[in-house]
Parts: sequence; structure tokens; C-alpha cells
Amino acid sequence: MDLRVTEIFLSIQGESSHAGRPCAFVRLTGCPMRCVWCDSEYTFTGGENSSFDDIFAKLDEFGCNLVEVTGGEPLAQKNAFPFITELCDLNYEVLIETGGYVSTGEVDPRAAIILDVKCPASGEAERNHWPNLERMRADRDEVKFVIADMVDWEFAKVIIDKYELIDHTKEVLISPVHGIENLAGIAKAVAQSHLKVRLNLQLHKYIWGVEARGV
Ligand code: SF4
Repeated sequence: MDLRVTEIFLSIQGESSHAGRPCAFVRLTGCPMRCVWCDSEYTFTGGENSSFDDIFAKLDEFGCNLVEVTGGEPLAQKNAFPFITELCDLNYEVLIETGGYVSTGEVDPRAAIILDVKCPASGEAERNHWPNLERMRADRDEVKFVIADMVDWEFAKVIIDKYELIDHTKEVLISPVHGIENLAGIAKAVAQSHLKVRLNLQLHKYIWGVEARGV
């Protein structure tokens, strides 16, 4: 079996509760969404077909036990599901970064889900697959709200409350769009909310810049 792959690289995890940990990334090609602020448009097309064995060989070279499968939208390729299972069989700690449009129902339960909820400013809020929020697990899964403005923040609070995400996830991540003017305002609003959430800044963009690939 194979997958369409944009890049495979070793770096540090830039986001989530795993931020700062060494992490190998498998970035799959393609996404059915078109978020206004997308920072991964280079994954929409191109890429190369790689066999599972070729990907495993590359990961073996890295010697890093934490692996994130990301995109694009990694779950848009049907072969992603058996690939994730084989990664788990190989005893990798597996993170799945998904945009929230595709059902996570068939993902191997040993993998941890980091699920985006698309907010209004993304232009894709109508396409959230809401049942994904009902299967989040408090011991491992994380939910991420990418916030462009205060309307998005208000939206996030409604969804956090409606799906009781503080209790049903490992972490609720509030992730301001990189480079927005009102970062301090959003940070202040998060602080004053007294919610058990985490402000999530993308470390890799501060270290290597926004245009860097494969780092
Ligand atoms: S889901 Fe992710 S990769 Fe797809 S358009 Fe949105 S931000 Fe970009």
C-alpha cells in the first residue's frame, strides 16, 4: 500500500501539549478544505507516492518514537487508516493532526487525535464533522481552535461549553492565527476566561519562520 506524501522530516513538535518534544512528521498531500488562513497550501497538490515500507524506513532512520501524521488533511486518504494502525503496531507514539472534516471514527484507538474545530473566520465552520467531538478521549485527545478574532473566541467558548470539552479532552488548545495584530488581546481574553485551556503558539514559526519547509 502507498500514500501520497508531501514531506517527511524530523523536528520538534511545535504545538499542543507535546510542544517542544522531538517529533517525526509525515505530511500527507491533499485537503478537501480551504481555510482562509491556511498555512499549508503547498500540500494541496503535488507530493510523491511512497510505500508504507519506504515511509517506515525513513522513520527508522530518524530514530524518534513520537510520530505525527499531518497534512493537508491526512484522513482524506483512505490508506491513512491502515498506515496509522501499522505505525501503532511498530510501537510508535502516534499523533494525528486532523482538520475536523473527516470522521475520526475509524482511526486506530491507540493513536491520539489532535482535532481542529474550524471557527467562523476560517470560512469552513459549516464543514466541521461534529460527531468527532463526541468521541474525544480525556486521556489522550486534544481539540484545537484556530482563532483569528474575538468572534472566533466567542464561538470557541460556545463549542467548549456545548460539548463539555474541558472534561472530555486531554487539552483544549486556543491557537491564534500566526501574525495577527490582536494576539495580546486574545491572550488577555483567554486569561480572563478562567477556562482550563492552553494558549497554543506555533513554536516552529518562531524558530524557523513561516516559510520554512521540512523543519
Ligand atoms: S484543514 Fe488544514 S490543510 Fe486544510 S485548508 Fe484548513 S488549515 Fe489548510
